[in-house]
Parts: sequence; C-alpha cells; structure tokens
Amino acid sequence: MAPTRMPGLPKAELGSSFPAMLGAEAADRSLRRRLTNDLRGAIGRGEMALVYQPRINLADGSMAGAEALLRWTHPIHGAIPPMTFIPLAEASDLILRLGGWVLRQATREAAGWPAVAGTVSVNVSARQIDTGLLSSQVAAALADSGLPPARLELELTESLALDDPPETLELLGSLRAAGIGLALDDFGTGYGSLARLRRLPFTALKLDRSFLRRIPADAEDVAVLRAVQGLAVALGLRLVAEGVEQEAQYRVLVELGCAEAQGWLFGRPVPPEVLRQRWSPRIPAMAGGDLALRGESPVAKPACLIPSPSPARSGSSSSGSPSSVPALPD
Ligand code: C2E
Ligand code: MG
Ligand code: MG
Repeated sequence: MAPTRMPGLPKAELGSSFPAMLGAEAADRSLRRRLTNDLRGAIGRGEMALVYQPRINLADGSMAGAEALLRWTHPIHGAIPPMTFIPLAEASDLILRLGGWVLRQATREAAGWPAVAGTVSVNVSARQIDTGLLSSQVAAALADSGLPPARLELELTESLALDDPPETLELLGSLRAAGIGLALDDFGTGYGSLARLRRLPFTALKLDRSFLRRIPADAEDVAVLRAVQGLAVALGLRLVAEGVEQEAQYRVLVELGCAEAQGWLFGRPVPPEVLRQRWSPRIPAMAGGDLALRGESPVAKPACLIPSPSPARSGSSSSGSPSSVPALPD
C-alpha cells in the first residue's frame, strides 16, 4: 500500500523517505508511541517477515549460512527499517515477543534447508539475555522446528550488559554446550574488551562493516583488518566480515585468510523463497562462468552469488549501489 501522510508531519518526511524521517523525528514522542502501539499487533496481523542474507566461506566460495533479518511492513507507512523499530521494541517488552517469534520462524524455515545451506544466524537482543528468556525461547524453537542446534548461530551485539553477570555466563555457556554457535555482532563498534572475548564462549566475530569502507585504499585500515584477523585466529574464532560490497574488499579478505564474508557483493537480504535459488542446481552451473571475479584472481570464485533482487523485493533498508558484480541472468 502506498504510504500516506501522517497528521502533523511535513509531507517531505513521509512515504519513501520514512527512514530519513525517523532521524528528524526521533524526538516525536507521539509518533513513537503510535508506532510502538502498531508494533504490538504487527505479528498477529502478519506484518512481520524474515529476509535472509547469505554468508560465504571465503576459502572456497561455498555458502556458510544466512543471517535472518527482521522486516516490518506497516499497513500505512510501508517498510520500516529495523534500525527504527528494534529500538522501539527494546524500549518496551515487545522485543521479547518479537525475539521469540524470530527464533521460531528462522529455525522453522532453516529446518527445510539442505545441509549445504549451512547455519542460520539469528540476531538476539540484550533484553532476551538479561531476562534469561533466551534459553527457553531457543529450546522451544529447536524443539518445534527440529533444527539441529549446531545449525543455529546467535548474534549478540557488543552493547550487551557490560559486566557480564554470572547468569549471562551461565546462559551463554549452556547454549554453547548444546552446540549452538555464538557470534559477537558489530565487533569493533562497542565496548568489547579482549578479556571479555576470552571470558564469553563466542565462536565467531562479526566485524562491523564500517571497518571495510576504506579497504583496500587505506593502508592503516588494512593493518587493522589484519590485526583483527590475527586476534580471531589466536582466540580460535571465525572472523566474519560484514558489508562486503566491492570485489577489491573481497580479495583483501581472502588474502588475509578471513573465514567468512557477508555483503551486497554476494547477495542482498532476500525472502526465503529467493534464498532457495542459491542451492537449486541451476545457480552453481551459472556461477561457473561468471562475473567480475574471473581472470587474474588466484582466489576461489564464490559459487553462491545470487541475483540481486530489486530493492523492493530485497527488503534491504540500506541504499547505495552494490558493486561492479553484475546480476546473474535469469
Ligand atoms: P546487523 O545484525 O549488523 O545486520 C547487518 C545489516 O547490514 C543489515 O541491515 C543488512 O541489510 C546490512 N547489510 C548487509 N550487507 C550490506 C552491505 O554490503 N552494505 C551495506 N551498506 N549494508 C549491508 P538491516 O537488515 O537493516 O538490519 C540492521 C540491524 O537491525 C541489524 O544489524 C540488527 O542489529 C538489527 N536486527 C535486524 N533483525 C533483527 C532481529 O531479528 N532481532 C534483533 N534483535 N535485531 C535485529
Ligand atoms: Mg547481525
Ligand atoms: Mg552486524
């Protein structure tokens, strides 16, 4: 449905510019209240959906898994980005319900994936951990879906409780003991400390995409990337680079021995039915003759490049041009 005007807000701040509006409207309590109210019934009305973005094994270009990203299609305002509604949900208990729904939905969908599709990553809010609810939500999702625990990875952000109370250690330890992966999301942007990295049972570091922006042009940023890769290896963690948009970034990551990458270069977030094309027999055959990655490169070609859908289909809230990699033909 076409976005319509909200009373009391300038026209320019509505419709397709909704994400921009929220920056300007952060202080608008009544708008936030109304959106929070709408959010309350959004699951029941079927307005919530998950899209999936592939993670790629850099060693051989195979698919390592996919990250589930939540999307809200508001009946009046259209697509509302998670950076807008997640904080609203976190300011109330709504995030607990949303988080439980995401876990159930993602595990149910991933249970239908073939083993080659790898693990499903689910973003988890600090509130789910602080309340201890995560444990029962994960157990219920795995029991309902039948997904093996080793095919689930939880992404925790660095802004989680800084002092890591014993309950957090216990909770994360029991998830890990069950075989569930634990990734530290947006690494490099928060309050992470090396001590904390050693204390908590993480299995992966997801490097925030801001660290990739000036790669490979900026030698210092390449040095930081190299150091983070060294840290990951030293701690026995997989390094996952987020926001890979350019082939040149991809080459540097391969050269440094980074384990996994995720970004528009490999595929934007897509609905589950589009993600399925990744492992249909048609796609690897097509990827063989590709793309911008052919030629002098000594590195493996990602066999899992999937067509970039139109932004409307992708559900991606970010803007900008993906990369020089052309979309695969139909
Ligand atoms: P995140 O977990 O770090 O997710 C990665 C974000 O980067 C996603 O934005 C994704 O669309 C975007 N992205 C991926 N590749 C590229 C790229 O090459 N270039 C650029 N510019 N962006 C890229 P999205 O989907 O808008 O999600 C934003 C954040 O919202 C997520 O960051 C996560 O913190 C939060 N979020 C999303 N879904 C959930 C959820 O189910 N639960 C919770 N608690 N948080 C969620
Ligand atoms: Mg994430
Ligand atoms: Mg991230």
